[in-house]
Amino acid sequence: MTSHYDHAQVQEFWQYVWERDDVYALDSDAEDPTYVLGMFPYTSGTLHMGHIRNYAITDAYSRYRRMQGDDVLHPMGWDAFGLPAENAAVERKTDPESWTQACIRRMREELETMGFGYDWSREITTCEPDYYRWNQWLFEQLYEAGLVEYEAATVNWCPDCETVLADAQVVERADEHGESSDRGSSDDGTRVCWRCETPVGRRELDQWFFTITDYAEELYDGLDDLAGWPEGVREIQRNWIGRQEGARIGFDVAVDGEATGNGGDRAVDVFSTRPETVYGATYLAVSPGHDLARELADEDDRVAEYVDAVRDQDPDEVGFAGVETDATASHPLTGDELPVYVAGYVLEDVGTGAVMGVPGHNERDHAFALEHDLPIERVVVPEDGAGTDGESDATTGGSDGETAETIPYTGEGTLAGSGEYDGLDSETARDRIVADRDALEEDVTYRLRDWLISRQRYWGTPIPVVHCDDCGRVLVPEEELPVELPEFVQTTGNPLDAAEEWKQTTCPECGGPAERETDTMDTFVDSSWYFLRFLSPQLEDAPFDTELADEWLPVDVYVGGEEHAILHLLYTRFFTRALADLGLLDRREPIAELRSQGTVLYDGEKMSSSKGNVVAPQEYGAETTRLFVLSAAHPEQDFEWTANNVRGAYDLQQTLYGMATDFVEEGDTRLERRAHDEYLAREIDRTIAAVTEEYDRFRFHRAATEIQELARLLRRYREYDRPHGEVYRRGLLTLAAMISPMAPHLGEELWNKLRGEGLVVAADWPEPERDVAAYQRERRLVDRTLEDVRDIVDVADIDEPEGIELVVAREWKYRAAELVERTAADDDGTRAVDVESVVDRVLEGDDTDVDRGTVAAFVGDVLGRDGGPDGGRELAADRELALLKRATWLVVDEFDADVTVRRATDDDELGAKARPGKPAIHIR
Ligand SMILES: [Zn+2]
Ligand SMILES: [Zn+2]
Repeated sequence: MTSHYDHAQVQEFWQYVWERDDVYALDSDAEDPTYVLGMFPYTSGTLHMGHIRNYAITDAYSRYRRMQGDDVLHPMGWDAFGLPAENAAVERKTDPESWTQACIRRMREELETMGFGYDWSREITTCEPDYYRWNQWLFEQLYEAGLVEYEAATVNWCPDCETVLADAQVVERADEHGESSDRGSSDDGTRVCWRCETPVGRRELDQWFFTITDYAEELYDGLDDLAGWPEGVREIQRNWIGRQEGARIGFDVAVDGEATGNGGDRAVDVFSTRPETVYGATYLAVSPGHDLARELADEDDRVAEYVDAVRDQDPDEVGFAGVETDATASHPLTGDELPVYVAGYVLEDVGTGAVMGVPGHNERDHAFALEHDLPIERVVVPEDGAGTDGESDATTGGSDGETAETIPYTGEGTLAGSGEYDGLDSETARDRIVADRDALEEDVTYRLRDWLISRQRYWGTPIPVVHCDDCGRVLVPEEELPVELPEFVQTTGNPLDAAEEWKQTTCPECGGPAERETDTMDTFVDSSWYFLRFLSPQLEDAPFDTELADEWLPVDVYVGGEEHAILHLLYTRFFTRALADLGLLDRREPIAELRSQGTVLYDGEKMSSSKGNVVAPQEYGAETTRLFVLSAAHPEQDFEWTANNVRGAYDLQQTLYGMATDFVEEGDTRLERRAHDEYLAREIDRTIAAVTEEYDRFRFHRAATEIQELARLLRRYREYDRPHGEVYRRGLLTLAAMISPMAPHLGEELWNKLRGEGLVVAADWPEPERDVAAYQRERRLVDRTLEDVRDIVDVADIDEPEGIELVVAREWKYRAAELVERTAADDDGTRAVDVESVVDRVLEGDDTDVDRGTVAAFVGDVLGRDGGPDGGRELAADRELALLKRATWLVVDEFDADVTVRRATDDDELGAKARPGKPAIHIR
């Protein structure tokens, strides 16, 4: 008979049993189940190691919570829309639907092979009409609530993907030094498509937006309360939302418009984070899309030409070109007349779309001023004068201000050239100028832009709108939803645009001819609310059950890659808030605890098919793979995939399997209980306590180590003596239960061999039989004592010790140590211990026939030794003695010597050296 665990042989059987018993199904009557969710996969073809790690984490945690008695919601679905499916379909001469369904079949099979326990009755697929109809329905609700806009906008355009990109889908190419700027101008770095890395261009198109900016403040402030989220992710969101405090400053602009009669005064507001530099403003610049620019373009061909040119320009080419206009601005504080420019480096949708140019204190304004020969004035002088050569003539203009020309000063300092504010530090000046002057008003802006959801592609949710010449944009009536996709046709442009028959429709309002909107929604819309659909996936009259959502949300634990910090995780928070405002939800935050998972590396690099360093999940067997990815590192850390380390996960399974098999087959056990059985029984308790703590804290790698150590101890116990049947079996059953969340097939196999009750997947999580509050201290005492014995044997160079004596301190010492400890605690960490009174109280005990001097010396010793607040905390006197007696067998086993453990007596020279937590040791 073999005691080799062959996963391939048992996996089908256990999977069949789990399915037969429907062990992962969650009853809809469940009260507030624990909701554990892994980010659902994009249907790209096969699962990769990142998926496996992600889902191994959620699966282990779900199983653990279920064994703890929770109802658990652990669903799975498919993020199935998106451009890659369209590309793959074209490549393979098929259509996105067939391709996607084939991917889903394959990936589902892979998930099942891994033995992940999902409630498949709740499976959702975003490309199916019964899912995406609710995208359309939600779009219409948001539209009616004023959260959808349709407007001409200059947008990011990927020429390769032939579609627009949201701001968050444009990335700075890594080799460029794209510094973050507080005014969002087109900076230095190359902006490329997140998906294909083609440099992104600009286009002006009519587009659909969700006005996520309405929630900027709330989304920003809410981050502070997300205690269950990694600080790193919160910080990324904070930066993305980009809250900026500053002031809005009004400039009066005089427009000379004789020809058309459009002349006169305008007010142009700018936003500045540094209003104290307002005296350094030497020009005003507006973006090409600003109302003023459009107005001036009507009057002035040069302006019109420039505005047109910028519109088609790649953001990288815009640079610091610009055009001076005939308009002039009046400085709100000095009344000076300033030139007005239209400049491409000022972005329309950032701040107010206009800036006051302060070249002395802003890098981009400075670059612009150099290019257009504008005055550069320095109105904030560094405190230490560094870099200014004591330059105090802050109003030095243009060519003779050597320092100001070469480096703009962006730090804090002292004001100069700023009238009555001269001599103030910048912070004080900032507050005072804003408070004093009517033209300046305190303001906050956010860098966050509205969410562009239009995509000119086929494989997405059709936007449920028709365009009518008479009625304009009209929503498709609710009862006509879903607007289903037409059949796929291959074209160079947008297939929906080419689907003439589909496109031509009648207007729901006037019944006249109308055309369907041909844009589809960004697939991030699908994933912004999918966690709600899992609650009631078959619901036919609403996207989700509001009552259930209020009871079951938030998602208790959400696990996925950190790369989703700004797109998916921000949109999800926005959607939840918007749904709450529509009255569809109580909650405003969808996710209580977020866990980012680290990367699986191979040769130091992220596994990726383009690098050819991919390890397929099946290569090492499902269970070895999942056990390895969990035991290799903390879920949030990256780790290296090495065959050697995988071996460790494989060996652990074989060890456990071999132990259970041997026990069942040989069954040679004892009935009477001895001291070392007690030790083992308690160590099982201690391991349960430790593993429970590690599972609770998502430290699966440490749980695996604990399990391994208990297995090692059990083996040693069995070799030391014939095992006590009941104690040993309990040890093995405990191992089976504790490994099962990470290696469920093995868990069932062990459980079954050992005749555990029912299935381990449905078993109760093991409980300690006795109090384990002090388990860490108990382990520490045994470990430390063993180390001390080893040290003495080493140092004294004893070949084969004959006898080892462990002597535990007398009881009065524990009392003394405890009194010292208690006093220290009373005094809040400061150790103002009254030695005399401690000695008095120790001497009250009737076991204490020692002299006062000995007690005082010991108290002094405790005080000197245990500086920290935790120093004195040891086990009680009799507990220490009992524990060491139970652990004797470990010393006997290791040194093969007679071992005695006893309490110190009067006139005991050896015993006098013992302290609480540190027995005296004598070796012959
Ligand atoms: Zn692209
Ligand atoms: Zn109409």
